[in-house]
Amino acid sequence: MHDVVIVGAGPVGGALALALADADLDIVALDARAAGTTLRGDRSLALSHGARLIFERLAVWPRLAAVPGAITPIVTIDISQAGGFGVTRLVAEEQGLPALGYVVSYRALQAAIDEALARTGIDVRFGVTAASVAEATVVVSGETGTELRARLAVVADGTGTVVSGIARHQRDYGQVALIARVGMERPHGGVAFERFTPEGPIALLPEGDHYGLVWSMTPAKAETMLKVSDAAFLAALAQHFGERVTGFARVSERRSFPLRLEFARPTVAARSVVIGNAAQALHPIAGQGFNLGLRDAYEMGEAIIRAPREALGSASMLAAFAARRRPDRYAGIAFTHGLTRIFATESMFLRWPRGLALALLDAIPPAKTAFTRAMLFGIS
Ligand SMILES: Cc1cc2nc3c(=O)[nH]c(=O)nc-3n(C[C@H](O)[C@H](O)[C@H](O)COP(=O)(O)OP(=O)(O)OC[C@H]3O[C@@H](n4cnc5c(N)ncnc54)[C@H](O)[C@@H]3O)c2cc1C
Repeated sequence: MHDVVIVGAGPVGGALALALADADLDIVALDARAAGTTLRGDRSLALSHGARLIFERLAVWPRLAAVPGAITPIVTIDISQAGGFGVTRLVAEEQGLPALGYVVSYRALQAAIDEALARTGIDVRFGVTAASVAEATVVVSGETGTELRARLAVVADGTGTVVSGIARHQRDYGQVALIARVGMERPHGGVAFERFTPEGPIALLPEGDHYGLVWSMTPAKAETMLKVSDAAFLAALAQHFGERVTGFARVSERRSFPLRLEFARPTVAARSVVIGNAAQALHPIAGQGFNLGLRDAYEMGEAIIRAPREALGSASMLAAFAARRRPDRYAGIAFTHGLTRIFATESMFLRWPRGLALALLDAIPPAKTAFTRAMLFGIS
């Protein structure tokens, strides 16, 4: 019997495995993907300053930093709304920070984590898919009868659907996010833009020599926008930004995915726990989802290291972990969901207060600092 089995060695499960690298425990991590690959297409992940600190401790950050263009610091975040007043600019220097956050590619981050894992003694098994997880027994897909047993199963498979005893709750926002790479006529200078439009928020995240675009819209509109010519796509994007951002030059890799809030309640069952996107998948409006998932991994690592071996996976250990994570999780879910209600909903009654909120945020330094800190480190 293993001490801990980690199902899913994505960015969150991989981070947990790294956090446990020096623990005197029998750990096995399995992932459905083949070594050196990712299952999904690439995407731009917005990492908070807090996430950077965690990846520094896990020796992932220096590996990522050694890859040219893999990390793009965000030095300014410009928040505005189309067709309404109110603008706020969060500036790293004003907060005494080198950067407000960082944009990294999912693939580059995964490669750095895999590389770091390969240098530890952790048993990582690629090409192994879990079919079910119950009471820390993992049944592996395909090979009938293959089971892995452990004291504790930590599920970080991105969906949490394989684990028994954990209910998932869903709230569909009725919108999809269209993501793409957008090239500009001029360098982006590390400035990220969040623009609230009648159709939903649009984010431009500086990444390498281009912007990672996350554009919320109705599913019907997305179907059209995935098909229109590059020129028509860029013209529509430019129209939403007006004078605020100009010089859209190229677009590539257009894809879309449905926007919904999904969360597990409870996050723990008999000898099992879900973390990362398996515990909560949030609307990307404030870039909180991945950072929250990474904090799940870090705190799970601490809880495992602190627990005596016999207590691993016990009801009291899992209840204590769930209680410890609850304020951060609920604050992240409520903050993100609240923002979607205020900023991703079009109503003439909301445009005015929304503009006022942005203007006040810009005019009151302590409010701006508090908001910036929430965006960077989380809300707990
Ligand atoms: C389509 C999409 C687009 C997104 N875009 C953005 C974005 O633009 N910006 C942003 O900040 N965040 C974005 N997110 C959120 C971000 O990707 C997640 O927060 C992050 O990937 C969570 O990491 P994770 O390790 O929990 O899950 P995942 O990244 O999903 O990793 C799960 C891992 O588990 C493995 N796995 C899955 N099932 C099994 C199984 N049964 N057995 C074994 N292994 C398994 C997978 O191979 C994978 O390696 C997006 C999410 C989605 C779904």
